[in-house]
Amino acid sequence: MKLIFSVSALLAVFFVLNANAQNPDFPWPEGKNMAISLSFDDARASNPDPGATLLNEYGVKATFYVVPASMEPNIEGWKMVVATGHEIGNHSLYHPCSGNFVWSRNKALEDYTIQRMRNELTATNDEVERLLGVRPEVFAYPCGLSFVGKGEETQSYVPLIAEMFLSGRGWKDEAPVDPYYADMAQLTGMEMDNMSFEEILPIIEAAAENRQWLVLAGHENGTEGNQTTYLSMLRKLCEYANDPANGVWIAPVGTVAKYVKEKREEMEGNLNIPGISKPAANGTVYLTAEKGRGIGPDIQYMPEWNAFGWFTAKDRVEWDMNLPKKGTYEVWMDWSVSDEEAGKPFVITSGDQTLQGVVKPSGSWETFQKIKVGELLLDEDFNRIIVASGEGFDKGALMDLKALTLVPVKK
Ligand SMILES: [Zn+2]
Repeated sequence: MKLIFSVSALLAVFFVLNANAQNPDFPWPEGKNMAISLSFDDARASNPDPGATLLNEYGVKATFYVVPASMEPNIEGWKMVVATGHEIGNHSLYHPCSGNFVWSRNKALEDYTIQRMRNELTATNDEVERLLGVRPEVFAYPCGLSFVGKGEETQSYVPLIAEMFLSGRGWKDEAPVDPYYADMAQLTGMEMDNMSFEEILPIIEAAAENRQWLVLAGHENGTEGNQTTYLSMLRKLCEYANDPANGVWIAPVGTVAKYVKEKREEMEGNLNIPGISKPAANGTVYLTAEKGRGIGPDIQYMPEWNAFGWFTAKDRVEWDMNLPKKGTYEVWMDWSVSDEEAGKPFVITSGDQTLQGVVKPSGSWETFQKIKVGELLLDEDFNRIIVASGEGFDKGALMDLKALTLVPVKK
């Protein structure tokens, strides 16, 4: 008896945690399970050869994030890297990091401004173009750091990267990129230096399981030494990625970033990515099912309707929003229900305020109607609104819920 109880408790937790995972598997090309991008930073001397030379044996293309001055001793080698189809990314002009790195004390991010960063990143693009004839579209944060300034004057330069580049990659991150969720200006970069293929394989397998994009980051290419991506590991990784049975799409960061952006745009309006809603230009807040968080044993986001299907009294949907100021809002609900399932009570709560109602017939499951439920006084900045069943029910369904619309009340 005790065992049965704990198993069902575990299952309940499992379903609650998985209630959000209702989007279709991310559509990687040719039915692949995941994407891998190999990336190498700093324009190290070993990158063109043996690095790119080895990758070329396998037809695998990588991204090299360069500091232009470091390429100068071997421009011919770097031209070969470009000519064989690899991507060149921007890794800044002088590689500024925190002044805690003593070598960066004369170019410490703590002493930078956004304008200085902008000027230097533009100069880096110009210099790469002058040397190699290609202009970088992607960026990697030196030392994985994305701030300038100190203390109260600290600023993030992520917005600058979002403006200037297709993507920005971090360093020594702990999780792969989620293609549905990720901010392109903050792609995670997981270290591959000084690791065997056997150490990297579990990371690849976990990313494949979750249909993610694994951006691996390294430095030198060789057989030993600090910050070195081992050639033996790269060979095994290329063989693994080239085996169709493993379902891996291996491509440069920019190629994958463009693909992910395109797919997200195609699917816009039919994806459930819970997140913060903000008022539209007219002040109205549209809380669509796309942005809602379905929580419970049997709540389902239905992409074809962009609505939540509601099957038990334990299910709920939460919406989070940021508002510019405190104010009263009319709450409109966009729902559908069949005549036979209509009539169950629902509640909408925000903090200690509650609106109650009964799900009125909408005509059919396919016919959505909109009705004013009441008014809520909402706070400046963060608010959470929860829609739930008003009482338990044994079978049937509560409703399909497409959206809440919050219309500011003019005082
Ligand atoms: Zn670097």
